[in-house]
Amino acid sequence: MMGVFHDLDAYGHEQVVFFHDKESGLKAIIGVHSTVLGPSLGGCRMWKYSDEAAALRDVLRLSRGMTYKAAVADLKLGGGKAVVIADARTEKTPELLEAFGKAVESVAGRYITAEDVGMSVKDIDYIRNFTKHAVGGSNEGGSGDPSVMTAFGCFQGIKAALKHAGLGEKLEGVKVAVQGVGNVGYHLCSYLSAAGAKLIITDIYPNQVEKVVQEFDATVVTPDQIYSVDCDIFAPCALGAILNERTIPQLKCKIVAGSANNQLENDNDGKSLADKGIVYCPDYALNAGGLINVAAEIDGYNKELVLSKVSKIYETIDSILSRAESEGVLPQEAAAQIAEQRLQKASFIKKAEKAIGEDFLNSTLGSQTKSAKIPEKLNR
Ligand code: NAD
Repeated sequence: MMGVFHDLDAYGHEQVVFFHDKESGLKAIIGVHSTVLGPSLGGCRMWKYSDEAAALRDVLRLSRGMTYKAAVADLKLGGGKAVVIADARTEKTPELLEAFGKAVESVAGRYITAEDVGMSVKDIDYIRNFTKHAVGGSNEGGSGDPSVMTAFGCFQGIKAALKHAGLGEKLEGVKVAVQGVGNVGYHLCSYLSAAGAKLIITDIYPNQVEKVVQEFDATVVTPDQIYSVDCDIFAPCALGAILNERTIPQLKCKIVAGSANNQLENDNDGKSLADKGIVYCPDYALNAGGLINVAAEIDGYNKELVLSKVSKIYETIDSILSRAESEGVLPQEAAAQIAEQRLQKASFIKKAEKAIGEDFLNSTLGSQTKSAKIPEKLNR
């Protein structure tokens, strides 16, 4: 492993904090990638990492991803994430959760935690006894399970992608292959079916498959067959890295749009999709409904407001795809550009506010100190 500071420099993190609590056995890392847009928010992943370097790599990568996700969703939030090095099935104890809650509290609101792999809504409820900075619980003011909103956002984005792929405006009769019908996949099937889409589904878990077949008249294929089925849209809602040199040649769809995080195994895979004429909806832009849902707790949860914000994923996907077309870039590049522009603008405003504030203070206090430097663009 290169040095820790080398990694922080490469990823551009503001702060990374390591926590160790001997009594509970807590080994955790909180990564605050950016607070330029607001406090950093991101789930806590409890996972038995093979080694500490893997845990650090994961928290750095995931927290940076949250910065982009929040920026593209136009939220006043930064990107953060936490990892707890433990097996969630055998090592999760009340003491461990308490120590983690206290760790979150000690970061003083620069990081707000939520659920992720290995952490449930119930765990968040418990953690809230030890920190004010946890969202996604089910107790007072909690937004609960985010998967319905994630699915609703994906559904909106899919509708926006239709016209960019020459599939018209309506989902009536459109064939959608859904990989993974768990929490998000199930709700997405429900929205798609109500809009008249024809569903082809797969899952490694038979009970889930049976439920979707019965409720939405879906056709079932094996997990291996899902890539090559005749369909208009492929919706990955199971695992990451499923778009790669082995699967892309098999795809027959015109759109890839699903909830799974980190769908592209490599950046080149986005180019391979474009070369096949497939419209790719960048995952973190499409699946932001869950983040929008938990973030709403900060100002007091209001379901109507959340629905209206999540509906805007339609406009977000539309503008990403329009930009990709007009500028001749890949959709993931267009999404990153939108995020980076918002971050640069916010960073510029922050610096300008600071500069103006110091200047104002100097003048009102009659200080003889040198006035703060006002950024060139504002100094007119
Ligand atoms: P989930 O565990 O409830 O569902 C995933 C489903 O995929 C399960 O039913 C599982 O059996 C199935 N699956 C696993 N491997 C498979 C394979 N090889 N082939 C077919 N099916 C397979 O998870 P979820 O909450 O529905 O999340 C789905 C994806 O969306 C994940 O990648 C998650 O990170 C991402 N995501 C979820 C949310 C949310 O709100 N839950 C938000 C953003 C992103």
